[in-house]
Amino acid sequence: MVQSASNQEVAIVGAGPGGLAAAMLLAARGCKVRVFERHTTPGGRTSSLEADGFRWDLGPTFFLYPRILSEIFAECGRDLMTETPMTRLDPQYRLVFGEGPQQRPGVLDATPNIERMEAEIARLSPSDAGAFRRFLVENRNKLAAFTPILESPFYKLTDLLRPEVLRSAHLVRPWRSLYREVGRYFNDPRLQLAFTFQGKYLGMSPFQCPSLFSILAFLEYEHGVFHPTGGCGQVSRRMAEIVTEMGGEVRLGEPIEQLRFAGRRVTGVQTARGEYPVDSLVINADFAQTMTELTPNHLRKRWTDEKLAKKRYSCSTFMMYLGLDGELPGLAHHTIYLAPDYKKNLTDIERGNPLDDDCSVYVQAATQTDASLAPPGCSSLYVLVPTPNLGVSRGKIDWATETPRMRRIVFDQLKELGVENAEARLRTERIVTPDDWLAQHHIYRGATFNLAHSLDQMLYWRPHNRFEDLEGVYLVGGGTHPGSGLPTIYSSARIACDTLMEDLGIASAA
Ligand SMILES: Cc1cc2nc3c(=O)[nH]c(=O)nc-3n(C[C@H](O)[C@H](O)[C@H](O)COP(=O)(O)OP(=O)(O)OC[C@H]3O[C@@H](n4cnc5c(N)ncnc54)[C@H](O)[C@@H]3O)c2cc1C
Repeated sequence: MVQSASNQEVAIVGAGPGGLAAAMLLAARGCKVRVFERHTTPGGRTSSLEADGFRWDLGPTFFLYPRILSEIFAECGRDLMTETPMTRLDPQYRLVFGEGPQQRPGVLDATPNIERMEAEIARLSPSDAGAFRRFLVENRNKLAAFTPILESPFYKLTDLLRPEVLRSAHLVRPWRSLYREVGRYFNDPRLQLAFTFQGKYLGMSPFQCPSLFSILAFLEYEHGVFHPTGGCGQVSRRMAEIVTEMGGEVRLGEPIEQLRFAGRRVTGVQTARGEYPVDSLVINADFAQTMTELTPNHLRKRWTDEKLAKKRYSCSTFMMYLGLDGELPGLAHHTIYLAPDYKKNLTDIERGNPLDDDCSVYVQAATQTDASLAPPGCSSLYVLVPTPNLGVSRGKIDWATETPRMRRIVFDQLKELGVENAEARLRTERIVTPDDWLAQHHIYRGATFNLAHSLDQMLYWRPHNRFEDLEGVYLVGGGTHPGSGLPTIYSSARIACDTLMEDLGIASAA
């Protein structure tokens, strides 16, 4: 049993949010930490893109529930809001409902102000206004019941019998989807979508997503939707700097090419620049992709390549990052447009079909809040279209030919949302397709939100934070317990670090 962390060499594969949070915690707990990152900027999916004076978040734009990251910063002697100032948005986002066979048109400005939100709901459906407070009260209790579960490990099947799990079991309602759960509160289909579209944060359809995830909408209204100044990527950049300030190393542009093992125990990592011995390894890179790329199949029992191939994965995304001349009067910071036939849109995504022209899109106009993201007099736009992942769309969508069509659809949808002449005002443009998520970001099947969050792929059934197939290996990030989304990813880092310290016999240091 080791008594001191200071002689422990810990390598971390990937400087995504999970890897950076783990590096901060391990450095605070005295370990020698070295983070290896493939790209030349830190943050992974939570990094920034920059071109011609514009800056966009690559992935996350909704910073929710800062509590867990605040606690991690506090353990490192830092204050999150001082290190990375954030603005709580109000309205937190605008929902625009398409007009079609299943939906009536309408707009809803989601606000955390309860009276104003009730008035917004009443505008769409007067009889539903009273349900909002009931939704908040019941989900407050639900989140309280689930918090210990989302912040502790599941290593054994019997962990499912822990008192806090049993106490919350009646709230899981495994037979009920998120959509049906929210139908207990709201009758108007648009309001049902307003409180369930958040399933998409996990890359899942609300019609498939477990009812447990009604806590996502609750989190937004109760704990806020934040915009970190400089974007979510700024949080990652600051975390990487803090790791260095704490004595850790962040080696950018240095991908790990091979892992060294003695039997099942990891002993070192190999990069183009050298070989580094390790006592422990934390893997933050996309779980399924890293398994297939870096760890020999014969060493794995539970998560072999064949088993990984049979799992279900989240959707992917088609992304456009635009720098425009001029301002965007009237556009909200976040706008979510829900397709008129939302159910068909989701079915197409699940089955791998090309999307209809009038598909759902999410648009972020971050310069409405944060002028630092574009040159003076200009605006930045981020557009995300949920799409099938490369597994389900194999043989049905070829992104080389689909990309020009999707680009056209995005400009049409922007026009519908009030962004006039976007194409004519373009100063710069970047596109990321599902193919790029795989080829450039090494994300299995381009499934941007990792393994799907169905109940059979959660808790004990999701990759464990202490990886049981190998020795000395710990997992953090969206593909591991407790799941995708920044708060749960930061939580995965804390769980993995607690376990690692416990395994070293220095739990008290934490
Ligand atoms: C488009 C999009 C929008 C999202 N929006 C939100 C949102 O609004 N709010 C939210 O909470 N979450 C959101 N998410 C989900 C999630 O929070 C992010 O994807 C998050 O960045 C995932 O973090 P992670 O720790 O799993 O690691 P990742 O961000 O995936 O980082 C892993 C890192 O490992 C590196 N790596 C891979 N292989 C190697 C190697 N061999 N050697 C060295 N480094 C390697 C990668 O380059 C990468 O930097 C979004 C995701 C996407 C893709």
